Amino acid sequence: MHNDNFFINEIIRLRDQKKAVILAHNYQIAEIQDLADFVGDSLGLSQVAAKTESNLIVFCGVHFMAETASIISPDKKVLIPDLDAGCSLASSINAEQLAQWKSEHPEAVVVSYVNTSAEIKALSDYCITSSNAVKVVESIPKEKKILFLPDKFLGLYTQTVTGREMEIWDGACHVHEKIGENIFDDVKHTHPNAEFLIHPECGCSSSCMLKSQMYDDCKNIRIYSTEGMINRVNESDSDEFVIATEKGILHRLQKLAPEKKFYPASEEAECEYMKMITLENLYNCLLNEEFEVKVPHDIAEKARLPIQRMLEIV
Ligand code: SF4
Repeated sequence: MHNDNFFINEIIRLRDQKKAVILAHNYQIAEIQDLADFVGDSLGLSQVAAKTESNLIVFCGVHFMAETASIISPDKKVLIPDLDAGCSLASSINAEQLAQWKSEHPEAVVVSYVNTSAEIKALSDYCITSSNAVKVVESIPKEKKILFLPDKFLGLYTQTVTGREMEIWDGACHVHEKIGENIFDDVKHTHPNAEFLIHPECGCSSSCMLKSQMYDDCKNIRIYSTEGMINRVNESDSDEFVIATEKGILHRLQKLAPEKKFYPASEEAECEYMKMITLENLYNCLLNEEFEVKVPHDIAEKARLPIQRMLEIV
C-alpha cells in the first residue's frame, strides 16, 4: 500500500525517464493537474498533442480525448490510465445512428462536437468545441443545411447566435443535469456580488450558454474559454466569481488568483468519468505503458480532416 507521495515521486521519475508528456484536462483531480505538463480544455490539449515532440503522450482525461490525440499524432504512443473513462455525451450517438441520419439529409453538412467517438468524427465534415462552434458554423456556406450533434444545448445555442438552418441531435451530458434549471436565480441569491462566468467546455456548461442567450436577465453573464476566463479573473475588480462548468476547473483558477473566491454554480457538477484518473492508475500507466489508445487506420484517416478543421478555426 503506497501513499500519495510515493505515487507523485514515481510519476515524476517515470515521466522524466521515458520523456513522456502528461496532458490533463481542467476537470481532473487537483493532484493530477499539479503533476501535468499541460492543463487545459479539449481544444487546447488537442493543440498541444499535435505539437509535442515527445513520443509518449499520457492523456489524463476521457477516452475520446485520447482518441483525438492519437488521430492527430498517429506515430506517437498515446496512453490513458483508465480505458473506462468514457463520456455520456459522446455515447449519446453511435455510427449507425449517424449514418441513418445522414441518409435522411444527404445534402447536409455534418458538424460534430469534439465529444464524440472516432467513428462519429470519421462520418463528419467538421469537428468543433464549444469555443469555436459559432465560428465553424459561420464558415459553412449559408445555403447549406447543418446536422449538428450530439449536444442539443450547444446546438440550440449555436443556432440562436448564427440563425442557421440546423437539425440538432437530442443528446446531452449527464453532468449538466446536476447543475439544475434554476442556477441563475439561486446563485444570484447566494452570491449577489459575484461575477458569473461560463466555461464553454463539455455539455455540462452548454445548457448555461443557451440560457444566457435566451433570458434578458442573464446579460451580465460572461462566456469565456479557459484562457479568457483566466484573463477576466485577473482584470476584473470583482473578488468573487461563480463558475458554471465542472468543478475541477476551480482548482486551476484558485491557483492563479489565490486572493479571489470561486464558487461552483453547483456542488453536484462533477464528472465521475474524469475523476476515474487517479495517482495510482497514472503511476501504473507510466510504469507499464498501459493502456494504449489506437484508432484503426481507415477510421483515423477519415477523422483527421474534420479534426484539422477544428484546430484551424479558433
Ligand atoms: S462532463 Fe459531461 S461532456 Fe464532459 S467528459 Fe464528463 S460526461 Fe462527457
